[in-house]
This record gives sequence, structure tokens and C-alpha cells, in this order.
Amino acid sequence: MTGPRVVIVGAGVVGAALADELTARGWDDVTVVDQGDLPAPGGSTSHAPGLVFQASGSRTMTALARYTVEKLDGLEVDGEPCFLQVGGLEVATTPERVAEIHRRHGWLTGSGVEAHLLDAAATAAKHPLLDPEVVLGGLWVPTDGLAKAVRAVDAQTRRAAARGARLLPRHEVLDITVTDGRVTGVVTDQGELPADVVVCCAGIWGPVVAAKVGMTLPLTPLAHQLAWTSSVPALAGRDEEAVLPILRHQDQDLYYRERFDTLGIGYYGHRPMPIRAQDIARLDASEVMPSVLEFTQEDFEEAWRQTQLLLPSTRDAKIEEGINGLFSFTTDNMPLIGQSPDVSGFWVAEAVWVTHSAGVGRAVAELLVDGHCSSFDLHECDVNRFEPHQLSPQYVLTRDCQNFVEVYDILHPLQPAEDLRPLRTSPFHQRQRELGAVFLEASGWERPQWYAANAGLVDGRDIPTPDDWAARYWSPIVAAEAQVTREAVAMYDMTALKRLEVTGRGAAAFLNGLVTGNVDKSVGSVTYCLLLDVDGGIRSDVTVARLAVDRFQVGANGNLDLDWLRRHLPPDGSVQVRDLTPGTCCIGLWGPRARDLLQPLTDTDVGPALKYFRAAEAFIGTVPVTALRLSYVGELGWELYTTADHGQRLWDLLWEAGQAHGVIAAGRGAFNSLRLEKGYRSFGADMTYEHEPYQAGLGFAVKLDKGDFLGREAVVARKDASTQRLTCLTLPEPGAVVMGKEPVHAGDRCVGYVTSAAYGYTIGAGIAYAWLPEELTAVGTRVQIGYFDRRVDAVVTAEPLFDPGMTRLRG
Ligand SMILES: Cc1cc2nc3c(=O)[nH]c(=O)nc-3n(C[C@H](O)[C@H](O)[C@H](O)COP(=O)(O)OP(=O)(O)OC[C@H]3O[C@@H](n4cnc5c(N)ncnc54)[C@H](O)[C@@H]3O)c2cc1C
Repeated sequence: MTGPRVVIVGAGVVGAALADELTARGWDDVTVVDQGDLPAPGGSTSHAPGLVFQASGSRTMTALARYTVEKLDGLEVDGEPCFLQVGGLEVATTPERVAEIHRRHGWLTGSGVEAHLLDAAATAAKHPLLDPEVVLGGLWVPTDGLAKAVRAVDAQTRRAAARGARLLPRHEVLDITVTDGRVTGVVTDQGELPADVVVCCAGIWGPVVAAKVGMTLPLTPLAHQLAWTSSVPALAGRDEEAVLPILRHQDQDLYYRERFDTLGIGYYGHRPMPIRAQDIARLDASEVMPSVLEFTQEDFEEAWRQTQLLLPSTRDAKIEEGINGLFSFTTDNMPLIGQSPDVSGFWVAEAVWVTHSAGVGRAVAELLVDGHCSSFDLHECDVNRFEPHQLSPQYVLTRDCQNFVEVYDILHPLQPAEDLRPLRTSPFHQRQRELGAVFLEASGWERPQWYAANAGLVDGRDIPTPDDWAARYWSPIVAAEAQVTREAVAMYDMTALKRLEVTGRGAAAFLNGLVTGNVDKSVGSVTYCLLLDVDGGIRSDVTVARLAVDRFQVGANGNLDLDWLRRHLPPDGSVQVRDLTPGTCCIGLWGPRARDLLQPLTDTDVGPALKYFRAAEAFIGTVPVTALRLSYVGELGWELYTTADHGQRLWDLLWEAGQAHGVIAAGRGAFNSLRLEKGYRSFGADMTYEHEPYQAGLGFAVKLDKGDFLGREAVVARKDASTQRLTCLTLPEPGAVVMGKEPVHAGDRCVGYVTSAAYGYTIGAGIAYAWLPEELTAVGTRVQIGYFDRRVDAVVTAEPLFDPGMTRLRG
């Protein structure tokens, strides 16, 4: 046998894909168990109509879908195809949706998927059942189509079986055995199966299976209506299963597929109908299958009315059958992939649509066999990404239902959730409210975007007004706050940034083995560096402050960093890691007057002797702080950390002392503008797992001479092989601004995509960072950014755009 003993729980389209991908990589001790009969054991896959639309605001989701299309298109069972490439058509019936399909067209183009925008007539011509009077335009993706989900299960499990995998239908997993924190097997109603690796691909039952090892899986099964018409006269006589494109009518929460002379209609416009995973009917107790609930006709009435408006020929047909089918929703609409934080060898691949199934199968197989995934950037999908409150049943249910409601809505990138707020507030919250803060949300934290109290600062400033879309969650106050930060001094609430404490006699060596910089320096040193994966890809960027010989504070990006550090802890107990974030807070005090403001409040010398990238423990009045002389906005100043109980007093002291220096409170809108003027990268937007440091412009943070660290060998090997560069663009058109994720064009060619963007209120131009091929990165190169229905000129510009000599930071 090759490879460890693997048991895959669930033979839906995800479990089947995984079995295929694992055995393709040579692992042959693979067992797939399912409580039902193959190839349609009764989960969501067994009744999915199989529409595969590749468009997504997430590049990862598009990449997973793209692989699924390519793979299923090459699979068949007894000569019958697993994919019908009929193309996908999203129609717009409102001006807002016309704009939205332009945006979606941009996402697809930037991800390398062929897509075309059609006018009303061309849209109607693509799908002759459409009423040409109703549609205003469409988005056409020729490679979209219909996955034959059950056949895809059959094809992939058969192939896996031919390579030695065992398929065990009618085996219900009752328990999972764990010894010393490692899985050892699964207990089924037919006996026990030993295992080194168990992968939960149990779909809507995932929370029940994961609970067997004490793991909370934040997903909710929700019913979604799928109905089939009687024969539609305009389709009469069809002998091919599907010729017409799959169709989405998102303005009315509807989608359609052809099945010979009938239509399948999917609907999301009804009330959310959640069910707890443990309440799903047992296989033998369910009427049709466990994931199929009775069709509630009354919830479908609006869908049928709208269908008859969009597709007039359906007026001569009727609804013949329907189901309320169950599948999984998550709090951020992304899958749940990865290993349990507590039980080694227990993995999950959950909340995955048919659309992404083969891609997820491949991703998980790579994680298991190679120890990392090289084909896809999985940081948005990692099951360990959640903050503790995001695992609470109330949060999961509320947000999952909200996502069901919004599944086809036009969502602005800054749009915050409305329910369950405020969830987390910093100690400055009351003061921020008094200043009229306009809050958005980050990891549950209420975070000011700008402050109404600063409205008076707008007077006399020449501030360009962005277009309607960019002007949402924006105010001219953002510009004023950015400029005042450069002119005087501002207080930024940085509490939402993750802070970890790493302690113990082995702490320095442990960190040095993981990060790209040398952190084994003097107490008081601060080091900006990266966490890399074994393949040299960037896992995160961190700021490591040595506060004592055996105590470090790590400024991180999120829970995945905590998870990453914990997974690499030495087994001898010489290092501890804990999350400081919930009990502490931070004010970024930045601006040319910051020192004038701070020095009178403390006996600690915060003059030039406390150098840039140095840390000091100090008292500000009565408040004990850790002061890190850093600035993400490019101005003199400090990140001032204290415990939550002292937070409000810290705010008040700085605020009162600051009045003489023109201090303001400033929000995230200003912050984002200022950081882009300085070229500071943001993990997750500008660089992710798929990028290596040199191409991301972060080679300065990699100290190859410091000794070995995780990813060192790979990063050296990749250094000269990269052909893409993260590149700074400015927009010469006065007032022009883009939002991020747009495609970048050179002539007719799409050559890259935008990562972060903002208006630079000091430099007086729009800024966009973009991944571009190396040959287009010379300063002065002209490209264009696709922004909705127009092209915005952009020029490659030397970075940083502001204060390249660092004079403002170093004094
Ligand atoms: C009405 C409807 C329409 C949909 N339309 C689309 C669409 O057009 N396009 C698209 O991409 N997606 C669609 N989906 C979503 C898609 O069907 C699912 O997301 C996908 O099929 C999930 O696959 P899975 O393998 O994770 O889960 P499942 O197919 O549910 O498989 C899980 C398997 O685990 C088994 N299992 C669970 N617990 C145990 C246990 N204790 N012991 C043994 N076996 C166990 C179950 O029997 C089941 O076979 C639709 C879903 C529904 C309900």
C-alpha cells in the first residue's frame, strides 16, 4: 500500500473528487464510506441540477470552478458525458444589474476566463426563450455549463476504485476514534475502519460528523427550491438533454436550466429555511432522500410569476414537480477546508458546490499528499480562519441565513452586515460614537471609517468626488482626515489588528525558524517579516517586537496566523502562543506633531533616541503602554498598546493633550489611502499564498543570511522564476479612482488584475496596485483598468509615491 490509511466520509461529489485525486497521486489505501447507496447516496449532490457558473468576486472560487469545468468536461461514464458545455448567461433587467455584470465580466477577465458582454438583442438571441423586451443585456461565458453531478460521482469513484480505493456504501459513520490527539479510525454501523487520515466530506451532515472529534463546523443546511416544469411548447421535440445556455436572472433570485423539453427553475427569493444538521431525517426514514424536503408551493409563487415574465413560453406550461433541497451555507460564502486545530489527521472539505467540487478535491489531495496546496490560494477557504464568536450558533445561523437572502444581490465590497452588531467594540467605542464615527465591521470589530465630527475640516480643501459606486461608504471627510494626518496628528483605532504573544525559552528560535527576518535581536527590536509556506508562498506578513528575552509580540493578520504558529510549536513545551487581541487595544498616533503631543505625557524619551522600528514599554500618565515606533501611514508616530481596561483613559489623555496640536480621530478610509501612498502591502489583497516575496516587492523582508527558516529553499528557487510583479499604478485622469479586483489591459489583452486601490489625497491621484507581467512594469508604461463599462488610463509609477526618502518616518 502507498500512502496512509485514508477514510473519506461521504460519497457526494466532493468525496468522489477527493478519492479520485488522492488515488491519482498514488495513494491507494483510500476508503470511501457513505450511509447511502452509490452513486446517488442521498446528499445534496444526488439532486443538484448542476449549473456551473464560474464568475465570482473571489479569484480562488473562479479558479476552483475553472478546474472543475476542465476536469468534468473530460470525464464520461459509459460514453455519457459528465459536463454539458452549453455556456452560461446572466441577464440584467435593471440598470444596476447592467453595471454589475460589467463588474463580473471584469472579475472573469482578470481571472483568465473568457467572457463577453452582450446587448439586449444579442442576449435574447443566445437564449430564445427570453423576452427581448425584458432584458437590458447579458454576460456570456462560453465555458460554463451543466455538471452531471451524479455521473461525476460515478466516474470519479469508479476511477478511484480502479486504482485500488474501496467504496463502502450503506456504511454509516457513528463515531471517530482519537488517541493522543490523532485520529485512529472510524466506527461504522458495519464495523470499525482503522485510519490515519479521516476527511469529512459529509456535506450538510458535516457538523454532526465533525462534532465526533469536538470540532465546530460553522455551516447551516438551508432549503433551496428547485422545480421542474411540464413540457414548454417552445422546447417541444428536443431530444438533446440541454442545448440552451444555463441562465441566471439574479434580479429576481432565479436560475434556469433546460432538460429536454422542460425547464428546471431554481429559486433563492423565498424565506430562509434553515435546519439543524442533527435534525436532518435519517436515510431510511426520509420519503425521497434525506436532503429533500417537501416542496412548499406557496414559497414558489413569485418565482413562477417572474419566470413567466422573463420566459413567456412558460405561460403555456405548469410546475410539475419540485423540492426544497438542502445544501450548506457559510458565514462568508466560502468553503471550509483544512485540518482540525485539535485533532491531527481529521480534515474537512465542506460547504462546497458542485461548481467547485473537482477543484476542492484537488486542493485537499495536494494538502494531504504534498503538505501544501500549490494549485489554489486557499487562505479564504481555511476552516481555521474564524474568530471565536464566528463559531457561535447564533452568529452562524444569522449570517448563513443572511447570505442565503443576499446570494444574488449586488454587494458593495465595503458593505457591512446589519444584524448582530455591534459584536466587538474597542474601549474607544464610546468616544468614537461621541465623535460621530461611521462604523464598518472587521472580524466583528466596529471600526470607524470616518468621523462626522471632522466635517468642518473639509472646508477649503479641493476634494474630488468619486463616481456613485466608489462614493458608497465614502465621505469627503475621508480626504480631510488623510490630509490632516500628514499636516498635524491623528489617532487611529488599530485594535482590530490581530496581536499574538509568543513566550518561553524557545520563543526566539521558534520564531526565527518560521519568519523570513531575524528576530533574535536586542530587546526592543521590531522586525517586519513574512511567514512562508514550504513552497515559498506568502502565508502572512507580520511585525515581530521583542519585548523581553523570552517574550515577543507579533502583529499578525488573523486567526490563520495563530493557527499556523500553533501547528509549528515545538512539542517540548518551551514555547507558548496566545492571542492578546481581545484583552488589549491599540491607538496609532501618527503625524508630524505626534512627538509634540506624546512627549509631555511620558517620562520615557520618545525622541529620536527611540528609533524607527524600536519598541519601548512606557507609562502615558497612569496608562502602561507598549509603544512600537512604526507607521503604516508613513508618518512619525507610534502604535500604543495597552490592556482594554486602560483603553479609554489612554484615548482621553491623548485627545486632551492633542487639542493644542490639532489632533483628530481618523478612520479606516484615510488609513487605506495613506498606506497605498506609502506602498505598504496588505496580505490577502495585495499578496497571498500564490505569491513569493520578491515578486510582491517584499524581498527586503527576506534575510537569506540569517540561517534556515520555513520556505527558505523554495523561495530561493522561485526568486528568479517569477514573471509577475506587484506594480504601482497611478491614474492620470483627474479624480479617477477604482476599487480593486478590476482587470488590467494592455491594448486588447488582459494582462493582470488590481489588488488594492484608493485615492491618494496627498499625491492628488488615484492609486491602484496590480499584478502585471514583468515586461509591463517599467515606470511610465501605460495600461488601462477595466472599471464597469469603461477603461481608465493608468501609468506604472515608481513607488512609494510619498516620501521615498523616509524623512517623515525617521526623524
Ligand atoms: C436544490 C439544490 C440545487 C443545487 N444546485 C446547484 C447547482 O446548480 N450548482 C452547484 O454547483 N451546486 C448546486 N447545489 C449545491 C450542491 O448540490 C452541493 O453543494 C454539493 O452537492 C455538496 O456536495 P458534497 O459532496 O459536499 O455533499 P453531499 O452530496 O451531500 O454528500 C455528502 C455525503 O455524505 C454522506 N454522509 C453524511 N453523513 C454520513 C455518515 N455519518 N456516515 C456515512 N456517510 C455520511 C451522505 O450520505 C452524502 O452522500 C444545489 C443544491 C441543492 C440542494
